[in-house]
Amino acid sequence: MKNKITILIFLSVIVLIALSSIQAYLIQNTYELKKKAFIQETDDLVSKISSDERLDSIYDVWSDQLKDHISDFKNKRITESDLIGRMKDNAETLNKQYDTIFQTELKKLDIGYDVQFKKNLAFLVITQDEVRDSIFPLKDRKRMMLFGEDFNEEEATIINTQRTFTKNEFFSQEEGEIVTLSFDLEIYSVELLLIKDWKRIVYGQMTLLLLGSVLLFLFVIGLLYYSIKNLVTQKRIAEIKTDFINNITHELKTPLATLSIATKSLRSDVIKNNESAFNNTLNIVNRQNERLQKLIDQVMNNSLSNEEILLNREQVIDNTYFINVLEDFKLSTQHGDLKVINNIYEPEVLLRIDKFQFTTAITNILENAVKYGVEKTVITVSSSIVNGEYLIEIRDNGVGISERNQKLIFEKFYRVSEGNVHDVKGLGLGLYYTYQIIKAHNGSIKIESELNKGTTFIIKIPVK
Ligand code: ADP
Repeated sequence: MKNKITILIFLSVIVLIALSSIQAYLIQNTYELKKKAFIQETDDLVSKISSDERLDSIYDVWSDQLKDHISDFKNKRITESDLIGRMKDNAETLNKQYDTIFQTELKKLDIGYDVQFKKNLAFLVITQDEVRDSIFPLKDRKRMMLFGEDFNEEEATIINTQRTFTKNEFFSQEEGEIVTLSFDLEIYSVELLLIKDWKRIVYGQMTLLLLGSVLLFLFVIGLLYYSIKNLVTQKRIAEIKTDFINNITHELKTPLATLSIATKSLRSDVIKNNESAFNNTLNIVNRQNERLQKLIDQVMNNSLSNEEILLNREQVIDNTYFINVLEDFKLSTQHGDLKVINNIYEPEVLLRIDKFQFTTAITNILENAVKYGVEKTVITVSSSIVNGEYLIEIRDNGVGISERNQKLIFEKFYRVSEGNVHDVKGLGLGLYYTYQIIKAHNGSIKIESELNKGTTFIIKIPVK
């Protein structure tokens, strides 16, 4: 059974891990899809602006200016770096107008979050007489920003690429004559978009999904924990019941066997003719009968009814009460070497208790001290007043109770199954009943114990 539960827990954990991995994978996929869809949507909106005719014509102005500068470059009126410098300067001047138009159009779209746009020059090639001359990119391979806002491109997406190819003519002077020459110009530009807060926006769209997943996950873990806990409890109850049946069978066997022998002997003439032996045997029958009655009462009181104990309180003086309880206990216990030390609080204290029930509670503890005691049993009963409460301590020098069992011995039917304790008869109901009685008196009970040293029961009840 224990193995089965371990396997069950193990399998549940594996399934839980597998389920959460699948869940994580699905969430990751959803995230990627949402991110893609969101960026695509924004790209589509912004590329509508970037293809505005007015912006295109500004770009055309820039490329016309570029062609003039290339003519100057070809005629060696300017150097290559002059050419690049002029390209940059022209773009910068034109960008004032470009950016104003762009921002106005962007405002009109009212997309609700911050975006940045720019148009970069990726490369520029001049071909003359089938000789390709790559003016741009420069050696550092950096792109040149033409229009828009400058920003870090790491997280940006490319929304458009544009490649223009034009044939151009220019005049040049060769050996004193003016000639018309031509060159092909190839410009490759890239449009980039940066959505500043895209992570927050995409996560925002997924909040419900993430929250739902976490809650469901916690719910499944809770459910699993609850089911396994229940299973373990059920298993323990089943074990306790089996133990109880074994114990009660064992408990009933002894008086029944004694009764059977006693009734047989009552029939024999030897006993019949001897009055003292006859009375003795009758006493045995009587005692065993009482014992059977007591056993059945104990079971009826504890296992059949779960009702709270109803108290019939009366006022008792602690000293007198304890002297009587301890005297009765000593008389009823057939133990050769038993010493009971009475250390009850000297000044008299008036207690309001149900005498019958409270005596049962105390007697159960005293009987256990003998049952689970050593040969020379010493029981010390003391009392004191602490913080307005009446505190009773019952200490024995018996076998003691391990820490694990200390938490369990007040439970119904619980018996310690370690060491030689099992040889002692019992139903595991005594301390359970004691606990219920003390609780009914609004009191508390706890134990301090060390194996092979002894046990102390500490009871606290309120006093006025
Ligand atoms: P029972 O005595 O019928 O088994 P109890 O409820 O009285 O049932 O006690 C529960 C268990 O607690 C006992 O089986 C015993 O192992 C342990 N126990 C109780 N009192 C003592 C004690 N004074 N010293 C050692 N063990 C004790």
